Amino acid sequence: MNAQSKDELLGWLRESRPARLRELYGRADRVRRERVGDAVHLRGLIEISSHCVRQCMYCGLRKANDKLPRYRMAREEIFDCARQAERLGYGTVVMQAGEDDGLTADWIAEIVRWIKRETRLAVTLSLGERQDDELWLWRLAGADRYLLRFETSDANLFRAIHPERMSGGPDRIALLRRLKELGYQAGGGVMVGIPGQSFESLANDIHTFRALDLDMIGIGPYIAHAATPLGSGALRPAIAASEQVPSNEEMVYKMIALTRIACPDANIPSTTALATINRVDGRKLGLKAGANVVMPNLTPTKYRRMYEIYPAKACIDESAVDCSECLRGQIHSLGRFAGRGPGGRGTIETVNETGANVADDAAPQLVQLRA
Ligand code: SAM
Ligand code: SF4
Repeated sequence: MNAQSKDELLGWLRESRPARLRELYGRADRVRRERVGDAVHLRGLIEISSHCVRQCMYCGLRKANDKLPRYRMAREEIFDCARQAERLGYGTVVMQAGEDDGLTADWIAEIVRWIKRETRLAVTLSLGERQDDELWLWRLAGADRYLLRFETSDANLFRAIHPERMSGGPDRIALLRRLKELGYQAGGGVMVGIPGQSFESLANDIHTFRALDLDMIGIGPYIAHAATPLGSGALRPAIAASEQVPSNEEMVYKMIALTRIACPDANIPSTTALATINRVDGRKLGLKAGANVVMPNLTPTKYRRMYEIYPAKACIDESAVDCSECLRGQIHSLGRFAGRGPGGRGTIETVNETGANVADDAAPQLVQLRA
């Protein structure tokens, strides 16, 4: 069941019959419940800088986008966000940014140390392809996890859409292996519907998630940004029309479900990009197809529009408190509950927000998280 062959994966990726898809999502939801439980972990996202030295062909933060005003948060502002994460009952903060050389290794390390000393939060970093000594320093400072999507396992497509910073540097898949060696919980992931992305490469993506034994796997739709070569059509990777993966929500739900079945105990978010292409139900449908994590935004509202990875991003105007309440409401409407602990891989929470123990026969290997 877990090690699905490439042909099986391809069959599901091309499936469109509603009854078959309901069967797939139902199966993934059962695996999710048995292996990671009903808790939905809340990772508070702090977008600490929109500066970026890279030229990724898909991303609005790319250096050449001179229309985008840039910001870098002050240390005290980041501390305030971390304090707010604790007040809102989150277990983790994620510090994310463009690949910004202005975020020096020592500065980040000091912030990580402060958060680990002053709060009970797990710290996830998502700061791009950084040097080995920097990654090691941050790990020593107490960073628990690192997110670095490999975007696509198709090496030719990746090269075309993700120009190297300097030739011969490690690719993202090699960096993910290295992050695991350094003791991080490592998070990879892909965009779905990138121009030039084939169904076969998506099946390979799922095999790559398994081969890397990733702790977290982020899967979201590719969303065209007109200020980028890929979004404007200036770059058009060649592919037969019948092979091109569509960038729609159904494709993303299928990828989430197949990934849950292939990697049963990974943490899988229902992403903001999914909520952007379906504002009403996107997050909930991702959670019903196998996801078990959401990432409420903690970035001060004044900065959010300047972190424009793609246009019309969801949750731009809401305050951190609004995001928290909205997401908790969505989680409860599914009969699930918001996790209270750090929610690392391998922990299953069975005590809900009211203190009730919700362990039952459906989840035989539950490990109780004490309040
Ligand atoms: N700079 C870091 C990095 O590249 O890993 C972290 C920030 S980057 C904005 C985070 C993720 O945004 C990328 O890994 C990519 O998957 C996603 N992203 C960028 N452009 C996107 C687009 N046009 N549509 C959907 N997701 C996008
Ligand atoms: Fe920079 Fe990350 Fe965007 Fe690439 S994906 S341009 S590294 S922020």
